[in-house]
Amino acid sequence: MPIHRLDNQTINQIAAGEVIERPAAVIKELIENSLDAGAMHIHVSVEQGGLSSLIVQDNGEGISKEDLPLTIMRHATSKIQRMEDLESIATLGFRGEALASIAAVSKVSIQSKHVDAEHGWQLKTDGGSEPILLPTAIREGTRITVKQLFFNTPARRRFMKKPATEFNHVVRRIQTFALGHSSIGFHLEQSGKVIFDLVPATTDILQEKRLISLLGEDFLRAARHLEAQAASLSVRGWIAEPGYTRAERDQQYFFVNGRHITSQLLNHAIRQAYHDVAYGHRHPAFVLFLEIDPALIDVNVHPTKSEIRFRDGRGVYEFLSQQIHAVLAHVKPVSDAHRFISPKIMTVPDITPTQHRMAFSTPRETYSSVNFSVEVSSPGNNTETVLTVEEPPVHTEQKTSLGYAIGSLHHLFILAENEQGLIVVDTHAAHERILYEQLKKHYHRQNLGTQTLLTPIEIKLTLQEALCFEENEVVFESLGMDIRLSSDRCLLVRSTPLLLKSNAIDSMIRDIIAGLTHREKTTTLETIIQQALGTMACHSAIRGRHDLSLSEMNALLRQMETTEHSGLCNHGRPTWIQIPVEEVNRWFYRGR
Ligand code: ADP
Ligand code: MG
Repeated sequence: MPIHRLDNQTINQIAAGEVIERPAAVIKELIENSLDAGAMHIHVSVEQGGLSSLIVQDNGEGISKEDLPLTIMRHATSKIQRMEDLESIATLGFRGEALASIAAVSKVSIQSKHVDAEHGWQLKTDGGSEPILLPTAIREGTRITVKQLFFNTPARRRFMKKPATEFNHVVRRIQTFALGHSSIGFHLEQSGKVIFDLVPATTDILQEKRLISLLGEDFLRAARHLEAQAASLSVRGWIAEPGYTRAERDQQYFFVNGRHITSQLLNHAIRQAYHDVAYGHRHPAFVLFLEIDPALIDVNVHPTKSEIRFRDGRGVYEFLSQQIHAVLAHVKPVSDAHRFISPKIMTVPDITPTQHRMAFSTPRETYSSVNFSVEVSSPGNNTETVLTVEEPPVHTEQKTSLGYAIGSLHHLFILAENEQGLIVVDTHAAHERILYEQLKKHYHRQNLGTQTLLTPIEIKLTLQEALCFEENEVVFESLGMDIRLSSDRCLLVRSTPLLLKSNAIDSMIRDIIAGLTHREKTTTLETIIQQALGTMACHSAIRGRHDLSLSEMNALLRQMETTEHSGLCNHGRPTWIQIPVEEVNRWFYRGR
């Protein structure tokens, strides 16, 4: 077949495939236009999930009669003049192709009244046919009606899901805009039924209300505010503390200069910041707004404008992960414990008082908050000094404390009393976090220290383990271990870091190797080492039943108060909870 040029109609229909894949994508483009036009209220109504009809109406500046026919021309835009303008782009649109694409694959009516015009005008076109222009009654702004989406592109129409599914996409799209543009009112209805009506959130309280209606009360309760500034970059928003996670990535939102985007780079920065506090395979939740000099990003990466490139990706990555890390480091157990209380604890226990009685009538001890070290003995090991406080506590921002130990429960939990009531500490989890933070600190100061073992430990490896060890020998070296692999796949461990308990070394090294075998290709050395330090901490922490004296328990409590992330173990489980005395009163129907 000889070469021939495609007609405009076909070009537009092909191009439409890139921008407009479903009703939600049409709505996204229309809302972007409304926002660019300075609208304060955006009203969306759909029928059949937007497949049969959708309307987006705004109170923005409107379109003049002369401009109306241009709106549906490809590469016609009021937002940029030349390529360089993208370096200072402040609008969401700039490609001049959304309306042309939409008009090519549906029946469109654009009604609009420009602020300076006497009355409004309407443009109508079916699948990009010669447009008709008529006067119309419209008070202000722009109303765009899109009917029978993909009526002339059956291939695309067949890809549409059920109206309910399409509607879900529509809802999520609009909610995303509502999160990103809280000062704008958003209204959605389907078949005349109001789905939501979000008033402009002009005050802090309204803003919180909007967050709650979009992400739920639990999110807001767990949310930490974040605000930080660097030279050409700033970030603000909310990140949920690690105790609040999601099975899906459904509450992860990045806005860069007001544009909602997806970004591997930013995702990775978040994962880095949460990696040793997040629980299992669950996902953190956050809404983050980055403001960056437009000259330092490229927004013209994809027709849907949902991806961007950073000129200094590394810098953005580090800035973000550091800022989040800093916020998470201050998630102290003291103020947050109530969030971990499971609903079970809140109910009146169904047991008789005699069963419930425990003997803890020990007097309070005095303690000094600095420079103490405690011998902790656990079964099978009674030699190491595992708890050492080296520095006076630096955090004085919280006056409340974890209180004083009053006993232990089943030799697994420390019970303590503070002003608010009873504290229950999971000894292993708490000790694990303390050791982990100490190990990290020592590692970063390069003084993990080594202890030479009296008798070297031998560990027989499988072929796969041996290969993995060889590949990662440097990891063990950086951890201060002297380990050799002999020809018969036998590891000989001669020395280990000081903080390690010698009876755990065998299984610990196997666990580190197992972790290395299963790691993702992209994991950095730093992350690998952190994970190894985590494994070390877990193996060295007090395990199972223990017999701590009250002063040992108090030492642990004091260390928790000065340890970063001490409210969570490094697998993201809580290390302690607070049971307020009011709660205990309720158990006994006091004060009723
Ligand atoms: P782009 O947004 O990239 O410029 P579009 O095809 O989305 O391209 O829109 C084309 C032009 O139509 C815009 O540049 C703008 O001038 C005008 N326009 C579209 N929607 C509106 C609206 N709701 N209010 C005012 N002007 C609009
Ligand atoms: Mg646009």
